[in-house]
Amino acid sequence: MNANWILIIVIGIVGLLVQWKLKSVFAKYSKVMSPGGLTGAQIAQKMLNDNGIYDVQVTCIQGQLTDHYDPTKKTVNLSEDVYRSNSVAAAAVAAHECGHAVQHKEGYAPLKLRSALVPAVSISSKLSMIVIIVGLLLINTFPALFWVGIAMFAMVFLFSVVTLPVEFNASRRALAWLESSNSLSQTEVAQAKEALSWAAGTYVVAALSSLVTLLYYIGLGNRR
Ligand SMILES: [Zn+2]
Repeated sequence: MNANWILIIVIGIVGLLVQWKLKSVFAKYSKVMSPGGLTGAQIAQKMLNDNGIYDVQVTCIQGQLTDHYDPTKKTVNLSEDVYRSNSVAAAAVAAHECGHAVQHKEGYAPLKLRSALVPAVSISSKLSMIVIIVGLLLINTFPALFWVGIAMFAMVFLFSVVTLPVEFNASRRALAWLESSNSLSQTEVAQAKEALSWAAGTYVVAALSSLVTLLYYIGLGNRR
């Protein structure tokens, strides 16, 4: 077993642990109610308005942990649990998604780059594996195909890297606003920070995982 395989397995295990910790931290802070009493929806509306944003709608969507900001529709989409709850976890998630809306308004460069990559990445993530496998089979007759596959997967890796500043920055904006607007107490801000840090951890693991996968694929091609 080579070193790359060991890395892939280690990162896989770390990924599962981070996911598990994220779920347990969010479950814990979903039960810690903010005495201020604002729901996720109200937090979102307030943070948007405080940042001079009036053309973004806050909507309620189905599912769990499905919360996201949609830059094309200009909507902050909050899952039911977040939308209606006045827990610390709900405030953290709602403010984080609004952090993306503020990035969009300010033309934050990494967010622009990330949005520009979306169409290419959605195709690449579906097809790169097939192109790489066929490319490996034909590597002696048609070596270019393998490297096309590698270039496609490199796009997926680049996307996971560009996602990091976007996510960290959205959380930083969220926490700064939760504190400055007195929407949460000092203790609650610390709890929100803990929850958002574990969420950010999942993006770090995803980026590391796509890096070792990319190196693994390149190694396969070089050996042939
Ligand atoms: Zn985010």
